[in-house]
Amino acid sequence: MEDKVCIKGRCPGAWQPMASGDGLIVRVRPRHAQLSRCQVEALCEAAERWGSGVIDLTNRANLQLRGVREVAWQPLIEALAQADLVDEAPSLEARRNLLVAPDWLPGDDTHQSTTALLNQLAELPELPAKVGFAVDAGERPVLMADSADFRIERAVSGQLLVRADGRQRGTPVQSAADAAALTVRLAHWFVESGGPLVGRMRRHESPLPPWAPASVSPAKSRPPLALGNHPLGAVYGLRFGQVDTATLRRLMSTGGIENVRVTPWRRLLVTGVKARPLDGLLLDNQAPELRVDACPGLPGCEQATVSTRPLATQLAGATAGSLHVSACPKGCARRLPADVCVVGREGRYDLVFRGGADEEPCLTGLTESQVRHYFGVE
Ligand code: SF4
Repeated sequence: MEDKVCIKGRCPGAWQPMASGDGLIVRVRPRHAQLSRCQVEALCEAAERWGSGVIDLTNRANLQLRGVREVAWQPLIEALAQADLVDEAPSLEARRNLLVAPDWLPGDDTHQSTTALLNQLAELPELPAKVGFAVDAGERPVLMADSADFRIERAVSGQLLVRADGRQRGTPVQSAADAAALTVRLAHWFVESGGPLVGRMRRHESPLPPWAPASVSPAKSRPPLALGNHPLGAVYGLRFGQVDTATLRRLMSTGGIENVRVTPWRRLLVTGVKARPLDGLLLDNQAPELRVDACPGLPGCEQATVSTRPLATQLAGATAGSLHVSACPKGCARRLPADVCVVGREGRYDLVFRGGADEEPCLTGLTESQVRHYFGVE
């Protein structure tokens, strides 16, 4: 195993942790979007021993440990490898950028296509850091709104298809193995046809190669899994996509839990159990927190000059529609515009309405109490 911490400026991985205001961020990518009970236990232990005791669930369905000191990275990565939570080869870990529809069943096309892609990781070319894959081959796709560059989906006709992101249609294939093979071939084509120059498939305007015709439409997409009972178990929501290890341990003490599946929607699917209320976890689909995105802010990010989450919690019930509280215009917590966007700048807050964190604000230079006052929160 390599033993040198490599700190990069973006896209943190287990082998490429990112420096942040509260220490390193170490990202774990669960295979098949699933963690066994032992892996959850190992992750909790790692977060408590070497991190801040808090685990983030990202919008790519990865898990992040925060607040890791540089000297703690080596024992941490060893513990994660021992729990089979990271690949021992950093090059494979970097390529394992797979989003998987969380409600797969053993042996279905999502499961088989994911297995086939995992087995072919070494055959993938070197791709830009943000380029990833979505395996979403249920009856109807559920990951269409989530970030990915190459998608394995179900066609209207019921066939499997492979679709380049940004194209309305995809290429039909006969089997999960064919889907994985075509996906790998498309990734090579992306690199060879200059895709890395624009970074993402959606922005890559080259015509698709003749062997990957965009000829069939995917089935109509379905909404993300609702909170509460699910045919496979229970779906719990995480405030701001974060859970502390004490809450996670409490959840895991529920008898009958088989596995925990991660989603890109700040929700966990816990298989084998019925939903029951638990402190620190959301079960109410109307909870205002579900409409709120907030980046870590101070002290979690070194680019922040304001705190975010306490203010976001206070404003959650006082704003209609979506709310985004971002400690700087980079807007890491939300890609899409929000009805209300509160953006930190030089220790104060700006307000953007129906826009993103980097857009022209309507009001600028407000203190935190002025923001609260504006929304009628005292
Ligand atoms: S939006 Fe800015 S302050 Fe917030 S996490 Fe991203 S870089 Fe840090």
